[in-house]
Amino acid sequence: MRSTVRTLDGRICPPGMCERCFERGKLVPAEIVHHITHITPENINDPSVTLSFGNLMRVCRDCHADLHYGGSGYTPRVSFDENGRVIPLA
Ligand SMILES: [Zn+2]
Ligand SMILES: [Zn+2]
Repeated sequence: MRSTVRTLDGRICPPGMCERCFERGKLVPAEIVHHITHITPENINDPSVTLSFGNLMRVCRDCHADLHYGGSGYTPRVSFDENGRVIPLA
């Protein structure tokens, strides 16, 4: 995992927060460690891919789905109205 993550204007991502959301100006708790170079059967035994801090980033669930599926494979089933009530999506 990159020890410090800076945006272009030099702000540092707080510990435990999604690095991708932070770069977009949002603070969202990170839940998943994403491999920037995706792990494949060819590189699974290469520690510079699987274990290198430079190849890891902390992301939230939504960003992780986005990174792997470009958003298209991820369909949320519920949303929330302005009062925080769950709205089922078709
Ligand atoms: Zn995120
Ligand atoms: Zn990932």
